Amino acid sequence: MRLIIQPIMVNGNKILEDISFIIPTLLTVFKFEKDSVIINKPISEIPKHLFDGKRNQYQSDHLLSWLQQTLQPSNGTKLLAVCAFDAYFGNYNFCFGEAIIGGRVAAVYLRRLLPQDGIDDNKLRTLLQDRLIKEAIHELGHTFGLRHCSLGSCIMYKSKTILDTDNKRREFCKTCICALANSIGSL
Ligand SMILES: [Zn+2]
Ligand SMILES: [Zn+2]
Repeated sequence: MRLIIQPIMVNGNKILEDISFIIPTLLTVFKFEKDSVIINKPISEIPKHLFDGKRNQYQSDHLLSWLQQTLQPSNGTKLLAVCAFDAYFGNYNFCFGEAIIGGRVAAVYLRRLLPQDGIDDNKLRTLLQDRLIKEAIHELGHTFGLRHCSLGSCIMYKSKTILDTDNKRREFCKTCICALANSIGSL
């Protein structure tokens, strides 16, 4: 299994300069082939129809479809978009991320992962990086067929607030790790 990471930074909106720090964790957790993880050049423009001007948010489900059609990840490849903007889908006010369950495409949205002001830059960066890693594991977990877990400490627990994300661990619970191992093993 290969992984393509696709940064998307519209309107010059950079939140993180370098996201390569997430690679080692994702390699270990999902057993991606060594040296098969690549970070694409950032996309700086995406079609206007993906943006909901009334809500000032991107439409996550439309973005996933667009990524699927445009980048066409092949069988055996997962595509993770890391997006420097806010998005939503369905009836939700916002989402931290979204993925096609058992599919090839996932996205995480950095805007709501940003810590509030009032902490120093180093702590802010560390916290943002931790949140991004957790959301990336969660969304990629969905692409391996996993659904939400009721255990608050499990990475597949659905975060309703950023506190949920901060409170959960980077790990899967026993049930979810078995499901993941089965999914990876059957590929
Ligand atoms: Zn989820
Ligand atoms: Zn679980």
